[in-house]
Amino acid sequence: MSVDPYAQEIEPVRAMPFMAPPGFLGGCRPLQPGEGHWYVLQGDRLLVELGPMTAPSDDPRVRARPAWARLPALGPSTLGFEPVRAIYLGELQGVACWAAEAPAPAPAPAGLGWAALRALFSVLPDTHFALAGRALQLLEWDRTHRYCGRCAAPTEARRDEHARACPACGLVAYPRIAPAVMALVRRGRTLLLARSAHFPPGMYSALAGFVEPGETLEQCVAREVAEEVGVEVCNVRYFASQPWPFPHSLMIAFSCDWAGGGVLPRAGEIETADWFDVLQLPRLPSKISIARRLIEAVAAEIRGAGEPGAARSDARAPSGV
Ligand SMILES: [Zn+2]
Repeated sequence: MSVDPYAQEIEPVRAMPFMAPPGFLGGCRPLQPGEGHWYVLQGDRLLVELGPMTAPSDDPRVRARPAWARLPALGPSTLGFEPVRAIYLGELQGVACWAAEAPAPAPAPAGLGWAALRALFSVLPDTHFALAGRALQLLEWDRTHRYCGRCAAPTEARRDEHARACPACGLVAYPRIAPAVMALVRRGRTLLLARSAHFPPGMYSALAGFVEPGETLEQCVAREVAEEVGVEVCNVRYFASQPWPFPHSLMIAFSCDWAGGGVLPRAGEIETADWFDVLQLPRLPSKISIARRLIEAVAAEIRGAGEPGAARSDARAPSGV
């Protein structure tokens, strides 16, 4: 019997949307596409059976969610169109999983529809939602690495791993993952939250930014916070991570403590930033993102609902700037 690498129990607050589901074994195989679970995408829209778009959404980027959605039973013979590309993802409880890109104007087969992946969060079963995210990411990588970045020759998919190799010069391109940190600064009973101009009205979140070559994650946290709001931090603590397939990030979330400096939002990037008491938090991002989990977990910890002893000394700490 094979080991299930994703079977471990994870406490709910750290169980992230898009994380690899239990029962899934990623892999490659040099076979022609066959029957199994098919994650068919057109851009970021997934081919699904779905109900009317009547369910409310907590995601400002999603106007409404379908009342229900199911991954349809599909195969290469029932798609009704020839995929632009198809990638074997692995097996889910012994069933082969395929990612496929539909040609741009392809109409959905009868009874099915296209739905933006974000709109399917909390509607499609978590397992299929996660594998659809993986499919989205691998299709995008495959589509953008058709030519060698060094010599411009057409690349070829490797048969034994997810990689594209250049037959002319040997350069191998692996699926790209861009690490980005999320930093939640706490000071006493307050949290530092910021908003950028493209957020919907009233919404605030933790600070975030991409890791630069040559820095550790902890250094990245300190730099991003300093750059975006001019605040110095200490005690950087890991919270959790989340694969984020729009298009290829890995979000790594931390909490940290204020160590000095007043809040000075960086013009052009941060519209406004402020300290919020954990009992009076503003509108937060959707539960699809690790930002929301991070903010809620740290707020709960400060309120004393977290681990025993977590709220020690907070009541005496200064608040506000
Ligand atoms: Zn090359």
